[in-house]
Amino acid sequence: MAMRVVPHWINGARVEGAGERRLPVWDPATGQQQATVVAATGAEVRAAVRAALDAQPRWRAASLSRRAEVMFRFRDLVDANREQLATLLSAEHGKTVADAAGEIARGLENAEFAAGAPHLLKGGYSEQAATGVDVYSIMQPLGVVAGVTPFNFPAMVPMWMFCNALVAGNTFVLKPSEKDPSVSLLLADLLRRAGLPDGAFNVVQGDKSAVDALLADPDVRAVSFVGSTPVARAVYEAGTRAGKRVQALGGAKNHMVVLPDADVDAAADAAVSAGYGSAGERCMAVSVVVAVGAAGDAIVPAIASRIAKIRVGPATDPDAEMGPLITREHRDRVAGYLAGSGGTVVVDGRETDAARGPGFFLGASLVDDVDTGSAFYTDEIFGPVLSVVRVETYDEALKLVNDNPYGNGTAIFTRDGGAARRFQYDAVCGMVGVNVPIPVPVAYYSFGGWKASLFGDLHMYGPEGLRFYTRTKVVTSRWPDPATSEVDLGFPKVR
Ligand code: NAD
Repeated sequence: MAMRVVPHWINGARVEGAGERRLPVWDPATGQQQATVVAATGAEVRAAVRAALDAQPRWRAASLSRRAEVMFRFRDLVDANREQLATLLSAEHGKTVADAAGEIARGLENAEFAAGAPHLLKGGYSEQAATGVDVYSIMQPLGVVAGVTPFNFPAMVPMWMFCNALVAGNTFVLKPSEKDPSVSLLLADLLRRAGLPDGAFNVVQGDKSAVDALLADPDVRAVSFVGSTPVARAVYEAGTRAGKRVQALGGAKNHMVVLPDADVDAAADAAVSAGYGSAGERCMAVSVVVAVGAAGDAIVPAIASRIAKIRVGPATDPDAEMGPLITREHRDRVAGYLAGSGGTVVVDGRETDAARGPGFFLGASLVDDVDTGSAFYTDEIFGPVLSVVRVETYDEALKLVNDNPYGNGTAIFTRDGGAARRFQYDAVCGMVGVNVPIPVPVAYYSFGGWKASLFGDLHMYGPEGLRFYTRTKVVTSRWPDPATSEVDLGFPKVR
């Protein structure tokens, strides 16, 4: 049987890629190739940008209510097609269908938020800023904007971007991850069915070369990027050098601080859920437990006992709790850490049955007494490997969080409200959880890390997302009585 080929989506329709570079889409659960994605040529990227450019004036001119209506309809269509979206997503990514459904639910929140744009895009108005003069601000779209997204959230992260971008009157070109590209086409089709005009949303498939073409295209006014830190930094630098507005979210090393007074069972449940959910391939995954004082001796066995019960398996197994990693190379890289030094491997995920099969599985792994100079601690492993660093005091734990080059998310587990309040105040990190291990903000706040986890100024989605996709114009307006008009070369004063 011929291999399925994943097309682009340009000007409201699927377009077969004409390029020569063909990239494999794996089934991570079996280790077999399931499809091919053809990397977009420069001409195809240009065609997508051109379609977006042509569609933008008309889409911008659509009333706020009309744009919001499209978002309402899109929301309903995503809701009605959750299962299809989740199944497609799982088949290429490998995460469990329940986990994929969770991703879609969180993505959907962004469509719901964006549907409130008529309220959110109100400007300000100052009557009588000077005698007979009114001043007001308006938020206008940028034009054509692009999104470049990672493999780990192929539905949610694009929705973080395009819902707000579109409702603000921009048109959009998405470059999804080449590792799980198909769900982007289903989203494109749902947007079309919701009434979005052709050309307002486009998808170009591929990898670095497609991104480079978007960054070099003068008609692309802004780029939203989510992925690893080295690429985020490079995209930010190239995009801003080309005069574009860029927000580039990078990698993470999220610390969960456990104080000695924490409820051990609750903390262990949270560490296991946030450390191994989606096989650790979440930018908000907990990858380091910082156990303070006596918390270490309590939490390590509590985590280990829970690992023994995790069911590892393919997304087609309805009872599976943790799926495979995205590619063989990535699985091997993650497994390689377990052969390294700098910590005591308490549970070795290479020894699970699933890890011996042809799929890209690795069991949950736990490493205690991790040395902060070791690769366990310094690298974003992005797999089901949870490190435990033991410290004696709160101050030592805080110093680890704050000295870390990443600053995406962090959490504290304690029953002491004063300690939690202090941590929230002190942590040099964009998102903080108090007894919440994955503090992903709801869609009406904004998502973003600090330090090497975000390049740019504005966080993604929510109010900051709308600010990213709009620019402000301030109008100073006077309707004078011609009889009062005169020449005055002095600097305009308001008093
Ligand atoms: P990645 O950086 O390899 O790829 C991300 C996107 O960039 C993909 O679309 C890819 O095709 C493209 N790309 C890859 N190399 C490129 C290059 N040299 N130049 C231009 N574009 C390039 O990331 P990934 O492996 O797909 O995703 C995992 C990473 O994303 C992890 O580091 C994770 O922490 C991070 N992530 C961060 C967030 C966040 O919100 N901060 C969210 C999800 C994932």
